[in-house]
Amino acid sequence: MSQLADRVAVVTGASRGIGRGIALELARRGATVVVNYVSSAAAAEAVVEEIRQAGGKAMAIQADVSDFEQANALIQAAVDAYGRIDILVNNAGTTRDALIMRMKEEDWDTVINTNLKSAWNCCKAVVRPMMKQRYGRIINITSVSGIAGNEGQSNYSASKAGMIGLTKSLARELASRTITVNAVAPGFVATDLTANLPANIAERLNEHIPLGRWGTVEDVAYAVAFLASDEASYITGHVLSVDGGLVMG
Ligand code: NAP
Repeated sequence: MSQLADRVAVVTGASRGIGRGIALELARRGATVVVNYVSSAAAAEAVVEEIRQAGGKAMAIQADVSDFEQANALIQAAVDAYGRIDILVNNAGTTRDALIMRMKEEDWDTVINTNLKSAWNCCKAVVRPMMKQRYGRIINITSVSGIAGNEGQSNYSASKAGMIGLTKSLARELASRTITVNAVAPGFVATDLTANLPANIAERLNEHIPLGRWGTVEDVAYAVAFLASDEASYITGHVLSVDGGLVMG
């Protein structure tokens, strides 16, 4: 399977969890992958090594993508290394959950900057090379919380809803250059991000998921790989839920 051969992808937050799964899946389909991370250098290098062992091409680049200059430097380093960027996956994200009465201003700022500003930063940096190529695939990892809202996640839900607005606006702006911009909205996926949920609550959530189980990182990665493929060339401005039916409509 190599439908992404000759494509170069940047995946933000690819050292762990969903981003790691996306990086491995894009590489499996032939893409050269830039594995971005902020602090987990060893984990990012392990992802790169796994891709190389399987015969693929990859490199790890450290950057805090919530920082405008660092996001720019990440994209520039990827272009310098491989000459182009075909696929950008804005996956880096975090949570600082609390009811609004208890949520601190810094919890709001951290989550908005890490999840939403980072995506805008990377989109802004990647748009110039993609416009020159007259080709690009931008995929933003949002969340069911950005569609339906979630108690205790006013910051996170706002950041993820913001990513949907960003996706649709850029889809309109960039369509004439054959750049598609889509979002993937996962439901619950077992990663470090959701590891703090008590087991009984995690188990009970299954009752609300029509397909009766949590998603896997691969479930999300397959959706991203599809949106990155040539088969998805007529899809833009779309939010693809990968949530077992949790949020419909
Ligand atoms: P995770 O396991 O906590 O991994 C987060 C990743 O983001 C790590 O690779 C981390 O890098 C990176 N990261 C965090 N802040 C960063 C920054 N400022 N700059 C660059 N990289 C940064 O989270 P996950 O569950 O895989 O989530 C990935 C994405 O999916 C997030 O956007 C999340 O909101 C979304 N999502 C997750 C779920 C779920 O149930 N897990 C559901 C819906 C949506 P380091 O390792 O270097 O810290």
